[in-house]
Amino acid sequence: MAVDYETMNKIVKKALSLGKKELPKGRVADYIPELAKARPDALGICVVGPDGTACKAGDTNLPFSIQSISKVISLCMALELHGVDAVFSRVGMEPSGVAFNSIVELDLQSGKPHNPFINSGAITVESMIIDYRSFEDMLEFTRALCLDQDITLNRQVFNSEMATCDRNRAIAYLLKSKNVITTNVDSSIELYTKMCSLNVTAESLANFGLVLALGGIDPRSGKRLLKAGTVQTVKTIMLTCGMYDGSGQFAVEVGIPTKSGVGGGLLSVVDKRMGIGVYGPALDEKGNCVAGKVMLKYLADKLGLHLFQG
Ligand code: GLU
Repeated sequence: MAVDYETMNKIVKKALSLGKKELPKGRVADYIPELAKARPDALGICVVGPDGTACKAGDTNLPFSIQSISKVISLCMALELHGVDAVFSRVGMEPSGVAFNSIVELDLQSGKPHNPFINSGAITVESMIIDYRSFEDMLEFTRALCLDQDITLNRQVFNSEMATCDRNRAIAYLLKSKNVITTNVDSSIELYTKMCSLNVTAESLANFGLVLALGGIDPRSGKRLLKAGTVQTVKTIMLTCGMYDGSGQFAVEVGIPTKSGVGGGLLSVVDKRMGIGVYGPALDEKGNCVAGKVMLKYLADKLGLHLFQG
């Protein structure tokens, strides 16, 4: 890290205290019944530097479901398996400007989903994985990328989402009717929902952020986990599409490639410098962790982390 450990610890603690003030403005997601059980006052932030040193404050070891952040992991796998041209022949790479689970938009436009981070795009990505990797393979892949062997499937969240994901099923069948999905729809939905239901912590997300910051290298073993091209693509899509339809504003104000999930997680990548993981299930109206945005902006300003820092 550019600053010493003590200073960094203080900055992370200050970020947490600023984030806590934002919590009353947020609401826990409840459209998946099991998610509504999260504590709205939970908040944690973990920053991991290139040497693996972690600075943490708050609820950094509390498990929560990864939700949409798993879309980053699945995109990594699809890119590793098929390459950039094949993946983006089925899914676009443009921000959508509409809600993550929009269906009207998808029907009106003739072709493919806007990008791999909205539900239609992510389900399409899973459909490109199911014939090559099992859920168990994807779980191992996730554990390796997050440097965390304790990641497991949260069965309650999985069952709760499977019982209420009619909209995702509708999206998937629409995609099948348009020949965007050409494999089994039900298996694609099952893998998508299982990936969303993985339990992670703010610390596991910070580790994953660091692996991406280092271009796909495991900082502990020095082993390459992802191709450099895969990581470059994924980080770019995180910057343009990672915060739902709040991605543009976040890119301008914070400038750190980030992916959020409705479980309250944020995965952030400060290229070559650090990975940041946040947990705070109180969300803003777009579905992003309400306190996380303020905490990341504070870190960006304090440490000069904006991608285009002048
Ligand atoms: N599993 C959630 C869904 O499909 C993910 C949503 C999200 O985190 O954006 O609705």
